[in-house]
Amino acid sequence: MILPATVTALEAAKSAWDVAVIGAGPAGSVAAQQLSRRGLRTLLIDRAQFPRRKVCGGCLNQNALAALSAAGLGELPARLGAVPLRSVQLGSNGRSANLRWPGGVSLSREALDAELIREAIRAGTAFLPGTRATMGSLAGEYRTVELEANTLRARVVLVADGLNGQVAGEAASGSLIGAGTMLDELPPWCEPGTVAMATAPGGYVGAVIVEDGSLDVAAAFDAVFVRSQGGLGNAAMDVLRSAGLPEFEPIRNAEWKGTPALTRTSRRIAGPRWFAIGDAAGYVQPFTGEGIGWAISSALAVAPLTAEPWHDGLVEKWSRAHRRVVGRRQVACRAIAWALRRPALCSAAVRVLQFAPRLASPIVGALHRTEFGPEGHG
Ligand SMILES: Cc1cc2nc3c(=O)[nH]c(=O)nc-3n(C[C@H](O)[C@H](O)[C@H](O)COP(=O)(O)OP(=O)(O)OC[C@H]3O[C@@H](n4cnc5c(N)ncnc54)[C@H](O)[C@@H]3O)c2cc1C
Repeated sequence: MILPATVTALEAAKSAWDVAVIGAGPAGSVAAQQLSRRGLRTLLIDRAQFPRRKVCGGCLNQNALAALSAAGLGELPARLGAVPLRSVQLGSNGRSANLRWPGGVSLSREALDAELIREAIRAGTAFLPGTRATMGSLAGEYRTVELEANTLRARVVLVADGLNGQVAGEAASGSLIGAGTMLDELPPWCEPGTVAMATAPGGYVGAVIVEDGSLDVAAAFDAVFVRSQGGLGNAAMDVLRSAGLPEFEPIRNAEWKGTPALTRTSRRIAGPRWFAIGDAAGYVQPFTGEGIGWAISSALAVAPLTAEPWHDGLVEKWSRAHRRVVGRRQVACRAIAWALRRPALCSAAVRVLQFAPRLASPIVGALHRTEFGPEGHG
């Protein structure tokens, strides 16, 4: 069932808001929930209607789960029936290695994102879906936000509009594009609790069973390779075949959706009366599911700054906090992204991991590391 608006665009334009959040992905929704809990009048706007599909691997790692706990939402994945993850089956060049995966879950973005919005609404957020928004200019104590037919005012604007949003930087050279689809039919090489991951020169493809028993397939490809294969479905089949997985035709024929280039560094992540959070503040191509954790961590970190009376020092303060919370964590991912562009290295790594899977533990540990303690405090 469609999640209804709690406010119309006209009503939203008549009020002056403490905070307007553009984008209701995990970053925007958790930020809105946190700010509403602090008693700030918060408006959450998204161009989409929810639930909606989103190109994503649907894996929440330990950092994402700990960040949800820190937001007071630790029980949400289990409530939605998220599937506990135990292992990753990594395939390359006909060989495969089984790596232990500590403590993540798989959950569709349809379910996760809609529930995070419901939590924000429960905390007091006003929700305006189906409306495109653009950050406007400074107007005294406020910044404006342009809606399709209205303008509203907020003391602070949070830009959480994702990878290709209004403050996102240029794509890094050689960056892969993202792609994804959902399937009701399951291939024989997929089992609940295991992420199947295939890497090949043209890109990589991951597949995992989510809470409703369907298969979330997500991929990152070289754009030239996709063109040479004649489309995303063919590209996925080619990667799976070169990795050594048996053919599974429904993947070729599925309805694939693509994304723009994945790795970006935003030029500016804050300015007078605005902060960028989540993918809007910069993103490194995914491999093992870190983006949702970064998005929620950045939402938690920006909330106290947003609640302060505005002063220009907050711009630098957010740049520093963002580097601490997200920037450093992206280093391990950048290293993996670099390695994935080198097929010979990947294939050699899988050959070694096939016999000594424990050698992957330090990297897996670095990807899952969290600053949020077991009690859920940041
Ligand atoms: C192929 C692929 C696989 C991935 N796999 C994983 C994974 O397994 N695990 C993981 O943790 N991460 C994964 N990620 C990354 C993850 O999807 C993102 O990091 C995460 O969604 C970021 O959340 P966000 O809230 O910043 O942005 P988003 O989730 O992108 O949300 C942005 C929202 O802004 C809205 N919006 C955009 N423009 C406007 C506008 N002008 N006005 C109003 N609304 C607007 C959009 O509709 C959207 O709802 C993957 C990404 C890709 C591409």
